Amino acid sequence: MFNMKAVEPTRLDPETKFKFRCHKGIKCFTACCSNINIMLTPYDILRLKNRLKMSSEEFLGKYTFSKIDEKSSHPYLYLKMSKDEKQSCPFVTFPGGCEIYTDRPASCRYYPIGQATLKKQKDDEIVHEEFYFFVREEHCLGYKEDTPWTIASWRADQEVNLYDEMNREWKSILMRRDLPGKEPLDPQKQSQFYIASYDIHAFRRFVFESRFLDVFDIDKKEVEKMRNDEVALMKFGFNYLKYLLMIEESLKVKPEAIKAKK
Ligand code: SF4
Ligand code: SF4
Repeated sequence: MFNMKAVEPTRLDPETKFKFRCHKGIKCFTACCSNINIMLTPYDILRLKNRLKMSSEEFLGKYTFSKIDEKSSHPYLYLKMSKDEKQSCPFVTFPGGCEIYTDRPASCRYYPIGQATLKKQKDDEIVHEEFYFFVREEHCLGYKEDTPWTIASWRADQEVNLYDEMNREWKSILMRRDLPGKEPLDPQKQSQFYIASYDIHAFRRFVFESRFLDVFDIDKKEVEKMRNDEVALMKFGFNYLKYLLMIEESLKVKPEAIKAKK
């Protein structure tokens, strides 16, 4: 997360124009890669741990820390900065820049644009509306350059569309929980939330090596897809979260499992 004082309080839409260029020759190159809070999403983690050829457990242990959000009681995950004087991102190199650039997290891709989602009442429904804003930090000289963009062309250039598409459902779960009267999560649910959101290897074990598939009625084709495709497993994790957090009856318990419980 950038310095909130640098956020311009104007909501931007995809057609908003601006000028910006970030390149290796710019004086501030990598100035934005130290002393920052980078919140990670489920898809960020898949990309990063695959890039680094690590298991999710190894990646989470080495590069992240989690914090329980006071308001929602959700465990959120952040990239751990190095212990050097500048508190640099572990992936920044000098003078080369980001060493995992093609798999960098969504918030690095958006910068110097910020993205947020607003909850709105539309007729009888609550809808989620995404919007954008400029982040103008003093150290960032890219705004003084001359390359023209719209928010839409910036998003396409930074390939954030894919990240947004992957994370949208997860973010909507967080927002649907963030309503007055929702009970805080107990430690057990927080731990399951963590596994289903961030730790794909532990979630895989939970689904395939416990009684999970004996208890829940899940289509065989879906099970096979999850077995072979990590993104499908991640998305199934979102479905499980909806069930766990009692947002939606997104999973069905098998009748024989109900009978056995009685
Ligand atoms: S992940 Fe890359 S772009 Fe993001 S802060 Fe670290 S070095 Fe910079
Ligand atoms: S501070 Fe701005 S211009 Fe400089 S490297 Fe970071 S994003 Fe690019």
